[in-house]
Amino acid sequence: MQLRRTKILATLGPATDKPGVLEDLFKAGIDVVRLNFSHGSAQDHIDRANRVRELSKKSGRRVGILADLQGPKIRIERFKENKVWLEEGQDFALDINLGKLDGDNTQVGISYEPLAREVKPGTRLLLDDGRVVLDVVNVVDNARVNTKVVVGGDLSNNKGINLLGGGLSAAALTDKDKEDIKTIAIIQADYVAISFPRTADDMHEARALLLAAGSTAGLVAKVERAEAMEVIDEIIMASDVIMVARGDLGVEIGDANLPAAQKHLIKRSRELNRAVITATQMMESMIENPIPTRAEVFDVANAIVDGTDAIMLSAETASGKHPVKTVEAMVRICMETEKQPAVIKSKHRMTDSFDHVDEAIAMSAMYMANHTKISGIASLTETGSTPLWMSRISSGIPIYAFSSHEKTLGRVTLYRGVFPIPFTHEKMANAEVNRYIIEKLRNRGLVADGDSFIITKGDATGHSGGTNSLKVITVHEDFAG
Ligand code: PEP
Repeated sequence: MQLRRTKILATLGPATDKPGVLEDLFKAGIDVVRLNFSHGSAQDHIDRANRVRELSKKSGRRVGILADLQGPKIRIERFKENKVWLEEGQDFALDINLGKLDGDNTQVGISYEPLAREVKPGTRLLLDDGRVVLDVVNVVDNARVNTKVVVGGDLSNNKGINLLGGGLSAAALTDKDKEDIKTIAIIQADYVAISFPRTADDMHEARALLLAAGSTAGLVAKVERAEAMEVIDEIIMASDVIMVARGDLGVEIGDANLPAAQKHLIKRSRELNRAVITATQMMESMIENPIPTRAEVFDVANAIVDGTDAIMLSAETASGKHPVKTVEAMVRICMETEKQPAVIKSKHRMTDSFDHVDEAIAMSAMYMANHTKISGIASLTETGSTPLWMSRISSGIPIYAFSSHEKTLGRVTLYRGVFPIPFTHEKMANAEVNRYIIEKLRNRGLVADGDSFIITKGDATGHSGGTNSLKVITVHEDFAG
């Protein structure tokens, strides 16, 4: 049986709150949901998380939860008429002192007070993900930024502002984020995404705040600032997962630089043993239409070929017209792309030496799996590190992460080619554990007689970093371990 290896991350929102939609998304194959803290109340997120947990229990499929903090998205205030049309070549001002509701087609308020100090004549400002472009003409009294419209169009309330090339100083964690971290600790999210980190220190600060609130969630760094790309290795090392946040990143570094940035971020994350998500506009046209464009099919497939662990849907599932069809289309593309020889061959870490026995076992298992006839790998794991190492190697062989820890089962939902299986084996003899593993796989229809399996585990249970054995077994009807 071919299992889909690339994980699908679906943002929840009004479209998935409709009766039956979340159930259908589970059936279609989502692996992780994203709670977007840029929208909705704390209670909305708690309710959605509870529904996901309930359905995970009911369906027997552990779906992970990723909470995405809003971060310091800099936004314009509102217009008297909600929306204006800006003509190319006209003057337009951003003014700290203008009332929050008083915008018109000559000016609009902003609440980000440092803006006037951080721009100078010639600075290019991109609004609404670059749909509207303004060039700064001058700054008056450190409060009013006068601009010329370079690309005009509709501009509506609260649209985001980015600086071409980056450089806005806003700190990564806002007061709202700090408040939301408390809700995230209640939800016990598997992952928390930090928006607009500039340095590794932003990630360290977020981790400390989460721990203080009682959350051990994995940390996702959303790479969406030009300056983050300058210190990317440090940011990757300070995080558990990297998100290629193509919306804001594309605005800051220029859209033409995005493909190279995506490839670099995926490659570097894998090399540094971190998981990686590719996000934004993957199936954008399916917000309205029931089928993707050819370009979207290629975009999803190319991210898989690049080596992404997960592909993310934003408005497509949160507020789009066809959330279930969108996931089904992604599944289709994953299944076909994953058959390509390029995505199942690996030369990764062939010349490395390893510091730890468990890491060496993980690499040996993958080498063996890719070079002999192996149907799957069962990895008994405390923290999820062994399956993470394994899944950094391109392969077509499924990796089953057997764990008794809810947290670990949640973590591995994002790793490419890794499938969580709840499991306790305390006080079981070795042969009994092997038999039990095969029984669990058999119950799920994942083994057949004659299949050869690799099992990795440690001698002592409850001990992280303890994987020290690799066993190959061939399954037969009266399998006795
Ligand atoms: C992005 O900018 O691509 C992104 C994922 O961020 P947001 O949460 O703002 O959509």
